[in-house]
Amino acid sequence: LVTVVVSSNVTRPTSDAEIVLKLGEGRISGGLAALLGLAALGGALCFRFPGLLTTGELRATYDVALLREALFWCIAAASVLGALNFLFANGRPAAIVGIVAATAAMLCGGPDVETPGTSASPLAIGLDWLILGLMVLALVFIPIEKAFPHRRGQAILRRGWRTDLQHAALTHLLISWILLATLNAVPALFDHALADALQAAVRAWPPLVQFVAAVFCADLAQYWIHRLYHTRLLWRVHAIHHSSQALDWLAGSRMHILEVLLTRAAVLGALLLIGFDQPVVDTWVVLVGVQAVFVHANVGIGFGWLGRIVVTPRYHHWHHSDDRAAADTNFAVHLPVIDMLFGTFRLPKAEWPRSYGVPDEPVPDGLLRQTLYPFRRR
Ligand SMILES: [Zn+2]
Repeated sequence: LVTVVVSSNVTRPTSDAEIVLKLGEGRISGGLAALLGLAALGGALCFRFPGLLTTGELRATYDVALLREALFWCIAAASVLGALNFLFANGRPAAIVGIVAATAAMLCGGPDVETPGTSASPLAIGLDWLILGLMVLALVFIPIEKAFPHRRGQAILRRGWRTDLQHAALTHLLISWILLATLNAVPALFDHALADALQAAVRAWPPLVQFVAAVFCADLAQYWIHRLYHTRLLWRVHAIHHSSQALDWLAGSRMHILEVLLTRAAVLGALLLIGFDQPVVDTWVVLVGVQAVFVHANVGIGFGWLGRIVVTPRYHHWHHSDDRAAADTNFAVHLPVIDMLFGTFRLPKAEWPRSYGVPDEPVPDGLLRQTLYPFRRR
């Protein structure tokens, strides 16, 4: 007689397993060599073909001298780490990738790579945004997660990291297309503000008041779209985002491209319809970008009373609980008061969910399979 016990959180076989990095195996030096070498090659190509590979919005904010210096240090670090890997770890494949990429970056011109004058193309690919955005986020959030972890011992390359990195790459590379679809299509449809009088009244407020109001309005719009995703109609699209079984700074990137487009267009559309000043909307875009990363992070700081005022990791981690009753709460991304208003607030004192994911949904690994998942028959 065999008794089979099925846990509520069945671990499916995965092609996206974790990699535990240990000192002395050569994985860390090899991985870093590959990462920095590829970043250097991508950076050099961005300098070489700015019209194709960079976004006009970002280019306007660059300190070019600083970026050339960063390019130099990426090439140097990739070469040194790659060489050390060959000396002490027999040259892992990642180290070879790093050395080849750093060499190719030098062949493109290295830190002195020539860059032609260019006109901004709205359909350029955001390779610059992918490299800079992900490197800055990794440099900021990985040390914070290591210093103040919620789940101590969770690997940096935990289960599902490849899938999340693929999602992050897609949304970063398509940034111009996403901006074009949301920033341009939405106001073209609605001719910016709903009413001149409303816009004039809103713009008469001081910037800080406008900003707080914009955050509230954005979260209100986002809240109801998010609730819509939790209905039968859109759940299979949103289940992709909920399928992560390990949360960290990268996990929030796992989002179906339709959800990215629909949510961004609807929320930005709401802010533009109300008529907030563009700098206020731009500041909100930065806030939502950083907070979206932060609330998924593996950060165990409690935040005390502040956790009831603004959305923190513990608050949003409850939304990712694999208990569906808990996942149907805490829909807000900025302000818990919105969940309080509509009766979906849930923050048990000092507790965290035991596990995350969607045990009832057979969500596969990988960007392509996840993108097709909502359209597949059950
Ligand atoms: Zn959700």
